[in-house]
Amino acid sequence: MTLDEFAEEAPRFTARHLRAGSDTCSLRLHREIRQRKGGARNYGSSRSFDVERRLLTDIATAHSELGVPDRAAFPTPTDLSAEEQRVYQAAMIGYLTVFPEPFVVAPLDDEWESIDPELGYRWVGPVTLPGLDSEGRARVRLAAVTSRSIQLDEAAHALIALRTESLGELVYIDRAALIDADRLEPIVIDAEVRAQARTWAVERAERLLAIGDDARPRMGRDCMGCPYVAQCPVYR
Ligand code: SF4
Repeated sequence: MTLDEFAEEAPRFTARHLRAGSDTCSLRLHREIRQRKGGARNYGSSRSFDVERRLLTDIATAHSELGVPDRAAFPTPTDLSAEEQRVYQAAMIGYLTVFPEPFVVAPLDDEWESIDPELGYRWVGPVTLPGLDSEGRARVRLAAVTSRSIQLDEAAHALIALRTESLGELVYIDRAALIDADRLEPIVIDAEVRAQARTWAVERAERLLAIGDDARPRMGRDCMGCPYVAQCPVYR
């Protein structure tokens, strides 16, 4: 089996999966963690996410070399609506305000997932703006337009700890809500924190695999946004 084939077979876990309770639908869980293909998204993309994605792409480009970008690195995105442009501009100014230190982006091998070296599980979730500061320390700038994505619960914390291992043993997570120009104290991920995160995530993952092995539908709140609703036996 090639590494690519192995990766396709390996179960995948997002932060949403790691948060799932024992009452989660086994069929949806089974398909999401074991059979990624075959579902259909039944919800549209959010425009606020589009603005955030655009800004993060422009920030990453502006940090292709070590330094502090100026406003000229962020031309007005004229393909966005007037309101989206205002959000973009406000968040961009917030970024330049809260992150005045030099930084260079150092992309991860895979933007979306890492494979656990021992178990082969795939830990899935984006790591925004991984890179190095002027002293060569590994950092992640977890920048979001609002504070929504910078409050790390146990699942999000575990995933970022696992996903940043390739950056170095010691990684600083700098979090900021850009519209409010609000930067939080950094989170430090070291070998001990990462080991604790892995223990927690592996325990959750194994429990979820056991729940998913049942592969039976369970009508409930998981049906909201379920990509498999069209094929689900309880809705036929
Ligand atoms: S539609 Fe509901 S019951 Fe069917 S697989 Fe999805 S979550 Fe489970």
